[in-house]
Amino acid sequence: MNCEKERRRKTAEKCIGLMTPGEASKNAKLTLPKLLFYHFQDLDYPYHFAQMHQILLWAQFQIFQLIHGLAHPGIKSTVKLMTEKYVWSDIKKQVREWAKACIRCQKCKVSRHTKSKLGEFEQPDERFSVVHIDLIGKLPPSEGMQYCLTCIDRFSCWMEAIPIPEITAEIVGRAFYDKWICRFGVPAKLVTNQGRQFEAELFRSIAAICGAKVAHATSYHPQCNEKVERLHRTLKGAIKAHNNIRWTESLPTVLLGLRAAIRPDISYTIAQMVWYFH
Ligand SMILES: [Zn+2]
Repeated sequence: MNCEKERRRKTAEKCIGLMTPGEASKNAKLTLPKLLFYHFQDLDYPYHFAQMHQILLWAQFQIFQLIHGLAHPGIKSTVKLMTEKYVWSDIKKQVREWAKACIRCQKCKVSRHTKSKLGEFEQPDERFSVVHIDLIGKLPPSEGMQYCLTCIDRFSCWMEAIPIPEITAEIVGRAFYDKWICRFGVPAKLVTNQGRQFEAELFRSIAAICGAKVAHATSYHPQCNEKVERLHRTLKGAIKAHNNIRWTESLPTVLLGLRAAIRPDISYTIAQMVWYFH
């Protein structure tokens, strides 16, 4: 037992050695916060309380950055993700403050919303039967891609973001076939806000590729699709918040973060909606 304590004390000292002022950020390893939490618990700590507090705060902030930095989810989702895995006093308050102060979130997210009245729209009861698609661009060129096709299933909110080089009906149709239809099947309805002509060309192109016809698209009413609109906004904000000139590389991480964040309206993550429930 003493031997174990001694071992932990040595590791804790090593951690502190790594974190002398100025050196802290250089030496920061991803595993350090976890190490600190393990090694500091019930140890007869020989250091000054203030010093220890500072180190713990630093470690807590590292954890926050790891979790929030994935896709920059909202304040509520960040708090939920953090409290699922970590416990310390005032964790909620602290995480809320950090999330509020996140510079990238402030730069890239829409924080004021005009509230539109609730429209009538039938709630689909089947996954992947109604799919909304949208286009983001022009973005800085990354691996030859300058636009991003986003697809969101209205029922589960499962989303895909597919980098494409240009926005012609053929390219968009092919991308939608490869990355969506081949995985989830042909949707009964496809909703776009890209204008009638593009829509018609796109449907022709999809029909030519897969031999099946998408039944029809409902006319586009932004107020009817608020949930999906909001998700599109979140997705766009998250891609921009990653601030990566090679955005195609950070795209999978952004999607992972969004699918794994708890949705406040249903208390499940999007991934759970698709993979765990029937
Ligand atoms: Zn953020």
